[in-house]
Amino acid sequence: MTPVETIATDVVVVGSGAAALTAALAARKGKAHVVLLEKSPFVGGTTAMSGGLVWVPNNRHMRDEGQADSFDEAFRYIRRLTGGRRSDADVRTVIEAGPTMIDFLEASTEIRFETLDKPDYHPEFDGAKACGRCLVPLPLVGSLLGDWFDRLRPASGFGVPLSWRELDQMNGVFHPERFDLALMEERSEAGFVGMGRALAGWLLKACVDGGVDIRLETRAQALLTEPSGVAGVEAVTSAGATLRVMATRGTILAGGGFEWNEDLVSQFVAGPVSHPLSCPTNEGDTLTMGRAIGADLANMWDLWRFPTAAIPGEEYGGKPLSRMVAGERSLPGTMMVNHNAKRFVNEAHPYADVGRVFMTWDPVESAYENYPAWSIFDRDFRETYSVLSLMPGDDDPAWLTRADSLDELARTLDIDPQTLTGTVARFNLMVDEGHDRDFRRGDSLFDRYYADFGREPSPTLGRIQRPPFYALTVYPGAIGSSGGLLTDGHGRVRHVDGTTIPNLFAAGDAAASCFGPAYGGPGGPLAHGMTVGYLAGSTTAGTD
Ligand SMILES: Cc1cc2nc3c(=O)[nH]c(=O)nc-3n(C[C@H](O)[C@H](O)[C@H](O)COP(=O)(O)OP(=O)(O)OC[C@H]3O[C@@H](n4cnc5c(N)ncnc54)[C@H](O)[C@@H]3O)c2cc1C
Repeated sequence: MTPVETIATDVVVVGSGAAALTAALAARKGKAHVVLLEKSPFVGGTTAMSGGLVWVPNNRHMRDEGQADSFDEAFRYIRRLTGGRRSDADVRTVIEAGPTMIDFLEASTEIRFETLDKPDYHPEFDGAKACGRCLVPLPLVGSLLGDWFDRLRPASGFGVPLSWRELDQMNGVFHPERFDLALMEERSEAGFVGMGRALAGWLLKACVDGGVDIRLETRAQALLTEPSGVAGVEAVTSAGATLRVMATRGTILAGGGFEWNEDLVSQFVAGPVSHPLSCPTNEGDTLTMGRAIGADLANMWDLWRFPTAAIPGEEYGGKPLSRMVAGERSLPGTMMVNHNAKRFVNEAHPYADVGRVFMTWDPVESAYENYPAWSIFDRDFRETYSVLSLMPGDDDPAWLTRADSLDELARTLDIDPQTLTGTVARFNLMVDEGHDRDFRRGDSLFDRYYADFGREPSPTLGRIQRPPFYALTVYPGAIGSSGGLLTDGHGRVRHVDGTTIPNLFAAGDAAASCFGPAYGGPGGPLAHGMTVGYLAGSTTAGTD
């Protein structure tokens, strides 16, 4: 028989990403005793692997910089993007609490945020802003975490020891030669940690300093219930022992998304999603725990989608590593085509929306029309920009399809050569005209910002003309889940019978976004998860 230990606490939090850590801090604010369970050996989840951007409309920092914003503008903007799928009351709660959550963290921890000059994802929509809503934490010096630093989840791609402002100033994301390598080395030696690791690191430090009882390698597996509601969590330790955490004031599920659980993805998600980029331990455990006691679900058809590519053999956490496809689809001199050898989307548009185009169904072929897809580019592109981890000047690797003509490229990809040649010719014509008549790429401020900003005449449109030609296979990926347990804006989990399950909360990717399918701007998922986590933690502590 496996040994059983039972411990008593006020609040138990499952998971250790930004939603969980913020929830724990908010509960501690009300002097609640908090136990936090994390199944992996590392704290931080996908949060630590992320860019650490947090999208909070109407935040104090933008006001301090003289940038106008208001609740009403944010509400109109988000409401349009939700497509009527979530209640106005929940949308309202989360938008209102976002700035309060940021103020709470800055008042009660050492984390400090600054604004970034990044536009909302639909900057031309009513209520959107061209900058100011996107916040990011200042970098952290790892040694501040003491022994816990070794327990901060390693990055998978966003591992640059710089602040986002420095990175943006260098304009080096797609131009690696512009990186200030000396500064980066200096920062590395000083132990600087930036982006998502900084966000998770600062929150972790505050939890450790604040006395949250953190248990690593402890996997929650079931909710404990009493007639009055949820009474805590049963977990299993890496040694195989059972741990029962009895929580009198609340159980907060924040175990991240379900995108690594193939069964759940195929059961619920619309369209193909083959390449998750998130923390591989996010297997929807907390979703399953909630379902087991009758919790309702929402938005399960969607994920936080992201076009993705993979380099064979690369792994992270024992699972295949996928990489974001961003510049490879939006910089001048590249375009995406489907198996009909045709363009199918404004490639420079926000990743979550581009990701959704993989769902398009071809009724004649009875197949997904845009899956698989390829980014097509030429020698000029290859000599100018990075492609995944490949730098200009590196030898061409086997995973990148290369051919001396478009005709040969098409034959290698098994798509129609004549159509591909025609698609490229039309694209080049529109580049010369300075306007993408087919998909309006470059029309939105957003299309221009995340491209080669500053480049003339267009930061996103450029000819594809000089052999050799290349094709990078692009897959539908996900950076997290926007569907999950149905909650209200305070994270209170709803039963399928329409009642609220007493003492049970969910936040972050474990819960369905109160904004439904809306992805308002850079940092949407983290900000939403942290805000609902903050409200859930405050509710358990009675300080909401
Ligand atoms: C490369 C990349 C960049 C991104 N950049 C951004 C960005 O800049 N801004 C933004 O808003 N979003 C970004 N995202 C998405 C964002 O990071 C996630 O949506 C977010 O981190 C989810 O946070 P969370 O707190 O819900 O869960 P996570 O941070 O994923 O943490 C969940 C944790 O729960 C643990 N867990 C799971 N099951 C159990 C269990 N049974 N028991 C105990 N623990 C469990 C997991 O091990 C994990 O540590 C990015 C994602 C990726 C992959």
